[in-house]
Amino acid sequence: MDLTQKEYIVILQCHIVKERCPGYLCERALHERTGGFAEYPRDKSYRYLSLTCGGCCGRATHRKLTNLVRTIGKKEGVGKDQIVVQLSSCITNDNYHAPPCPHLAYLKTLIERIGLDLREGTVISAKSEQRRRGGSYRR
Ligand code: SF4
Ligand code: SF4
Repeated sequence: MDLTQKEYIVILQCHIVKERCPGYLCERALHERTGGFAEYPRDKSYRYLSLTCGGCCGRATHRKLTNLVRTIGKKEGVGKDQIVVQLSSCITNDNYHAPPCPHLAYLKTLIERIGLDLREGTVISAKSEQRRRGGSYRR
């Protein structure tokens, strides 16, 4: 995936976790190009928005993203190939809140069926990395 060709990042976050979390650490990781955003060029600015999956089993992801693709295409001519979906770490990894989303494979299938590129992870905390190394976090 060529990230220099992307213009628009959608950070998809866990609906349950977002009942508490404002998503700031995801935004900061993007701003600082750390964690799941480390491979994005620093000298390019990206538009972004954050969405939640809508709650288990995450099926609303499909209609939210389909609506976005249709609207942004019509209003600004942005194509699917210019959009990338970044799954938040609270979906993809063992984390402070819980193990990874039990519907992770389903969410990925929904996004792939729309034809959008997908990447996994946003924030990588030092404590989680330590727990991964220690074996208490498996993913
Ligand atoms: S990865 Fe962290 S900051 Fe981002 S939505 Fe999940 S809990 Fe919040
Ligand atoms: S489907 Fe996964 S990401 Fe969505 S609310 Fe449920 S646990 Fe969170």
